[in-house]
Parts: sequence; C-alpha cells; structure tokens
Amino acid sequence: MNAMQTPHAINADLHCHSTVSDGMLAPTEVAARAHAGGVAFWALTDHDEVGGQAEARAAAEALGMRYVPGVEISVTWAGQTVHIVGLQIDPFHPDLIDGLARTRDGRARRAQDIGDALAKVGISGAYQGALRHVGNPDLISRTHFARWLVDEGYCKTIGEVFSEYLSEGRPGFVPHRWSALPEAVGWIRASGGIPVMAHPGRYNYTDTQHDALFDEFTQLGGQAVEVVTGSHTPDQYRRYADVARHYGLLASRGSDFHGPGEGRVELGTLPPLPSDVTPVWHNW
Ligand code: AMP
Ligand code: MN
Ligand code: MN
Ligand code: MN
Repeated sequence: MNAMQTPHAINADLHCHSTVSDGMLAPTEVAARAHAGGVAFWALTDHDEVGGQAEARAAAEALGMRYVPGVEISVTWAGQTVHIVGLQIDPFHPDLIDGLARTRDGRARRAQDIGDALAKVGISGAYQGALRHVGNPDLISRTHFARWLVDEGYCKTIGEVFSEYLSEGRPGFVPHRWSALPEAVGWIRASGGIPVMAHPGRYNYTDTQHDALFDEFTQLGGQAVEVVTGSHTPDQYRRYADVARHYGLLASRGSDFHGPGEGRVELGTLPPLPSDVTPVWHNW
C-alpha cells in the first residue's frame, strides 16, 4: 500500500469475469482494462474456476497492478443461489480445486436441459448457440444462452433475456443444486483465502432468511461482504455498510464486470466504500 494513501482511497476492483467463465474478454484483456480504469488492486473472480489465475497475475504484474487471486463460488442456500467470492486464495490448493471441479460438474447437463426447456417455448438451437459463446467448455453459463438469445433477436438486452426466460419461474429456468455454504466457505478458508458474501442485495430472501444467511456465513468463518458492487444501488451501499458493521465483516468493492457495454459498470469506476466500514484490503 502506498504510504500516502488511506485504504479507502485505493481503487480496488475485486470482482470481475473473463472468458474462463462468463466474461467476454481474456484475463489479459480484463487486466488491461482494469489498469486503464485506474485500478490499483485487482482480482479476477471467475465463476467456479481458477484456470485464469496464472494469466491474470502475470498480466497484472506486468502492468504494475497488485494482483489478488480470486474466485466466485456458486452455492445453493434455502433453495436459492448465493455467490461467495474468495479473495487471496491459493489457486493450487487441492481442497479448493476439487471443490470447484465438483461445483462445475453438472453444468453441461443443465445446459442441455435449458436448451430443451427453451425449445418447448419455440426457441430451437439454443444449446448449440450458447456453445458458440463459451470460452471454457467446463463452464457453460446462463450468460452464454443470454448472449445467443440477444444475437438472434429474441430480446434486446441480456437483462431482458434473464427476466423473460432465464430467471427462476421463467420458461428457460432449470433448477440446479450448487455447492453448500459450509463447503464453499471451507474450501476458501482451507486455501488461505477470505470468504466474501457477493452482492447480497440481489438475493430474494425474507428478512429472517437474510439474517440467518449472514449468521451462518459469519459462524462458518465468512469475513467480508460486498458493499459497493455493480449489482447494488446507492441505497444498498448504505444498507450493506450497516450489515458489515453489524456482523463485524470487512467490506469489499467490485464492479462484477463481464464485458464492454454489457450491463452493470466499467472496471474501477464505482464510488469508494463508505467511510465507516473497513476495506477488506486494509492490511494487504
Ligand atoms: P449461472 O451461473 O449459469 O446460473 O449464471 C449466472 C450468471 O448469469 C451471473 O453470474 C450473471 O453473470 C448472469 N446473470 C444472472 N442474473 C442476471 C440478470 N438479471 N441480468 C444479467 N445477468 C444476469
Ligand atoms: Mn456471471
Ligand atoms: Mn455473482
Ligand atoms: Mn460475478
């Protein structure tokens, strides 16, 4: 850390994706874009996969950015999907590697089922179409379907595809069982990493479930929560700063960038964390 800068003033972007999961750019290209956006501490956090970490670190270091090894793990909790980011992980740790492999397992089958479900509402060829957008054959995601549906003119935006077809309750939604919360937190901790609750403002839980999720996460050793993310509104920055303080969690910041012009925000452009929380990077 630069001795002149307080942790809050550091431009940290600790959540984004590459072609190794459902992003549109290779890790090296994401690194260049983060650097151009003024990011000083950067983590690539592909879904359920650490295959991009070596390239991301090399690219970041060549640009003079501090690299933070990361991942975003898909979890099923109370019947819904929750994402847990791991920061400062060891991407070579066998528990983490095995756990991620098991979490990825089943994505291919689920993708075929999504294709079949879309065919029932008159959209044929979606599975083959989604495959054309996939960078990593082990990591076919709803995002790849969404890009194909936009290309084919079924919807105007990725967001519209999710609300019309791919979100829970819509015709292309196929329920899936991801890893369990104790497993995901455990793999991150085993590898020496920091478990971070990703974009909590996106989950549709009751207040009771919301509190139970944070209780369980902290009891398991969860250490941080995303406060400023591309998925939150400014009201939610405030709300999750309060949640961080209430549970004694550190606060994280990340764009959740997936590609140029695709939803959310550009790398490095979010506002700083509120002054009353402790940045997860405060002692790095
Ligand atoms: P999957 O892991 O295959 O279920 O896909 C989840 C991914 O879909 C997320 O990581 C986002 O990139 C994307 N996604 C989910 N909901 C939305 C939405 N409402 N708008 C845009 N992208 C979304
Ligand atoms: Mn994604
Ligand atoms: Mn996520
Ligand atoms: Mn993400």
